[in-house]
Amino acid sequence: MTRLEDWNRLDHQETLQGHRRSAFLDDIRANLSQIEADGLYKRERLISSPQSTRVQVGGRNVINLCANNYLGLADHPTLIEAATKAMTDHGFGMASVRFICGTQDMHRALETRLAQFLSMEDSILFATCFDANGAVFEPLLGPEDAVISDALNHASIIDGIRLCKARRYRYANSDMEDLEAQLRAARSDGARHIMIATDGVFSMDGYLAKLPEIRALADAYDAVLMVDDCHATGFIGPKGAGTPAHFGVNADILTGTLGKALGGALGGYIAGPQPVIDLLRQRARPYLFSNALPPAIVAAGLAAIDLVEGADDLRVQLSENAQYWRSGLTEAGFELLPGEHPIVPVMLHDAHKAQAMAARLFELGVYVAGFFFPVVPKGKARIRTQMNATLTRADLDEALSAFAQAGRDTGLLG
Ligand SMILES: *Cc1c(COP(=O)(O)O)cnc(C)c1O
Repeated sequence: MTRLEDWNRLDHQETLQGHRRSAFLDDIRANLSQIEADGLYKRERLISSPQSTRVQVGGRNVINLCANNYLGLADHPTLIEAATKAMTDHGFGMASVRFICGTQDMHRALETRLAQFLSMEDSILFATCFDANGAVFEPLLGPEDAVISDALNHASIIDGIRLCKARRYRYANSDMEDLEAQLRAARSDGARHIMIATDGVFSMDGYLAKLPEIRALADAYDAVLMVDDCHATGFIGPKGAGTPAHFGVNADILTGTLGKALGGALGGYIAGPQPVIDLLRQRARPYLFSNALPPAIVAAGLAAIDLVEGADDLRVQLSENAQYWRSGLTEAGFELLPGEHPIVPVMLHDAHKAQAMAARLFELGVYVAGFFFPVVPKGKARIRTQMNATLTRADLDEALSAFAQAGRDTGLLG
């Protein structure tokens, strides 16, 4: 029987296979209906313009307050030019993993440049930071070891830890007493090596990890410190080198992305001591078994780091925008989570209110996203707004008056 006939037979509801398949799809449909009934179904808006401060959605031009485009580089001419030139010089795709025939001169140049930018010995590229975090634990830690993870760490860190054989410990978000208790537990359980894993910035709240305290505890208990700095690299700390540079402390291992402030396209990396990077190059599965980054992305990554290192003006603008935005929203009567990060969460608490507010804001020309369970805890629904350096005062004033209007229209503000 040919394969096509096989499929036709499967399609026939009377066969055993047909019944199984239909029961399978029925369960999937029930699952989807439940997600919908809980008000948790996510629908994607179709953007027909480049990612930018203002985007074209459904024929309308709206102010975008939900991209990770912190420095506004996602449509920057310098990066587009670098990417275009690389396609001409170095081609479109690599059609290989790195170790077979997928490493061009530019891949090593970017790894060296990233390491220098982050003050680390070397770095290794991945398709995404999700892959980098999936790659970093398993080759470095065995069953005799321990990994201690902040409860609010990014999903990719949680998944990466699941893939390694080390004993797992978890501490309440930024709770240093709990971290110390877990360090003590890991030591008394006889751990050979201990790694502490934390986000540099917790992206739902915009809170920075307490790196000086974490570093001191890591030193006291002889632990290795791993920091995922996705929401900091490029705009936090001197020259945008991230949260360790901001606090003046060292992370032993850093992971990060080119998909946020550094151009916003794609690409992840791990930076750290030479032997760590060397071992990852031998053993990290998402590196060994997945395609090399394409030349355009690599060249634009190099151009992005050059641009970002010298972009104090953009960082100042970003910080001024965040201050202006925070004080404007506070004056209008909204409840914010405190801080200085360009992530500015507007607390609505209730998921339906967050959805209604986001929908009304869109009608008023402001593109934001409501965040609710399971992304944030129940009762802590919010609209997460994000500033970028290219928003003008006029953009921010327009967005502020839309927020005030939407707040009144949805009954949130008196
Ligand atoms: C965005 C993000 C990631 C994933 O990065 P990608 O390169 O998009 O896969 C990982 N960790 C944190 C903390 C992030 O914010």
